[in-house]
Amino acid sequence: AAPLLEVRDLRVTFTTPRGPVRAVDSLGFTVEAGRTLGIVGESGSGKSVTSLAVMGLHRGAEVGGSIALAGQELTGMSEKELSRLRGRKMAMIFQDPLSSLHPYYTVGEQIAEHFRVHFKAGRAAARKRAVDMLGEVGIPEPARRAGEYPHQFSGGMRQRAMIAMALACEPDLLIADEPTTALDVTVQAQILELIARLQQERGLGVVMITHDLGVVARVAHEVLVMYGGRAAEQAGVDELFAGPAHPYTRGLLDSLPRLDDADDEPLRAIPGSPPSLLTPAPGCAFAPRCGLAAAATPQQRGRCAGERPELLPQGGGPRAAACHLAGAGGSAATAESVPTP
Ligand code: SF4
Ligand code: MG
Repeated sequence: AAPLLEVRDLRVTFTTPRGPVRAVDSLGFTVEAGRTLGIVGESGSGKSVTSLAVMGLHRGAEVGGSIALAGQELTGMSEKELSRLRGRKMAMIFQDPLSSLHPYYTVGEQIAEHFRVHFKAGRAAARKRAVDMLGEVGIPEPARRAGEYPHQFSGGMRQRAMIAMALACEPDLLIADEPTTALDVTVQAQILELIARLQQERGLGVVMITHDLGVVARVAHEVLVMYGGRAAEQAGVDELFAGPAHPYTRGLLDSLPRLDDADDEPLRAIPGSPPSLLTPAPGCAFAPRCGLAAAATPQQRGRCAGERPELLPQGGGPRAAACHLAGAGGSAATAESVPTP
């Protein structure tokens, strides 16, 4: 059978006054039912644009390549067809539920309306569905809370309500774009647990978009690391954490806070800024920030600067990386051992 979601050679291009911007390029991935793909990257890496393109919400951008949901091609679909699929087949939750919830309608009314539109249900059935869903996502006294307005909910409860709305129509695919970023650590953990539980119960395919590898470690089965609109590395979550093949992934891992860190060593963020998408470099987008390239021979450095690395399979389990030096002398984890000139 076809995978739940299969994206091939995705290209998303925005027209700007300063020229075209290729926000996503040559991207491919699959999501199976009952599995979570974590898409990780800094802001501007193309991860949100990717999810909006899948949902058909990429306003004004040109989309190339293929996006297939259960074998059905979504690119080129009319807005009418897409809006039918949104809700029924795929749903999305965002960092800020307030931006998706209407301030003047009660939370229950909004979930009921969403359900009514997609299922052509009667008002009473839709109201019941809203209360049931609020209960299912762990909101206490759901019948009473359904009559409250979004501003009466805490941040965590609002995100639960958004999840209730997203799942009210039983989609097969849930895309979550930084759903816990605005929440404090305890609530964040609860929401991630909730998503994982609902995924198991419903056999959902989940795409979890995040800048935080800690979130990926908790929920993802597969991981796609994006940099400058492209895949830097794709791997099973165990393979990725056991030893990243791409220097950028290594940098993300090094900047994770560690529980076993006894010393007061400050977090190591990756120095430098994301690449310009308006004037992309001919070589590897990560080259200006890459410690591995900096420690390499002038010849290797020249290749990094001049030739774009392809995403190639790497040894050690399901894994591919786009790095000229990823295969040479082991993974990027052994950057120190790369001979210097
Ligand atoms: Fe670094 Fe070169 Fe690999 Fe790019 S191709 S990540 S610059 S070593
Ligand atoms: Mg984003």
